[in-house]
Amino acid sequence: MIDAGLHTDEAEAVLRGALSEAGISVADVRRVFVTHLHPDHIGMAGTLQRAGAEIVMHEPEIANARRMWSSDHSMVDETYRWFERHGMPADVDQGMREAWLAMGRRVDALERIVGTEHGELFEFDGRRARVHWTPGHTDYHAVLVDEGERVLFAGDHVLPRITSNVGLYPFSRDDPLGDFLDALRAVRSLPVTRVLPAHGDPFDDLAGRVDQILAHHDSRLQATLDAVGDAERDAYRVCRTLFPGQ
Ligand SMILES: [Zn+2]
Ligand SMILES: [Zn+2]
Repeated sequence: MIDAGLHTDEAEAVLRGALSEAGISVADVRRVFVTHLHPDHIGMAGTLQRAGAEIVMHEPEIANARRMWSSDHSMVDETYRWFERHGMPADVDQGMREAWLAMGRRVDALERIVGTEHGELFEFDGRRARVHWTPGHTDYHAVLVDEGERVLFAGDHVLPRITSNVGLYPFSRDDPLGDFLDALRAVRSLPVTRVLPAHGDPFDDLAGRVDQILAHHDSRLQATLDAVGDAERDAYRVCRTLFPGQ
């Protein structure tokens, strides 16, 4: 399996139902590749692990996942202090922090996670897919490319209807958006004819979708420059201009 949804009762019922439609059960899942640490991807991995599956992630994403979901919340606290320093009002910041901690309660505890590296092959059920590091959405997000079947398992790197959330955090690599745009250009010419994203329906035109997202970021970067203007403005103010309805 690739990615495991957030652990809610509803999501678990959907997972068990879908596996049963495919004629198997949770106990038949042997390996799970988790593309990145977000709760809607890693959430139920522990349930699959306890049923016997091996959990595999891009090696450097594992340490971040462990810190993100640790019971001391240190990474979460550091993040929301950072948002406040950049102008987020305390009540908004506190609300977001609580929502994030509530999300953490939907993430299973995990024991051993097996690390894999960029370029290695992930083998599952007679298929082989190559691991590609695609930073930006998270620092060590990774996708799988099945070169034989020409399929890209895209995680949250290339999505058909929405664009991936890319943010700068106190523990981030230096330039997540630069990483993301470079990683989009890097997957653009992969030899694939089918993309299976983690959100939304499968699609075929990878290069076309990458070009749309790159053009979107060009115009949003210009809008960001305009929003900054020549006055002194914090990041929160710039966000409110860029996303007026939110
Ligand atoms: Zn994500
Ligand atoms: Zn996601």
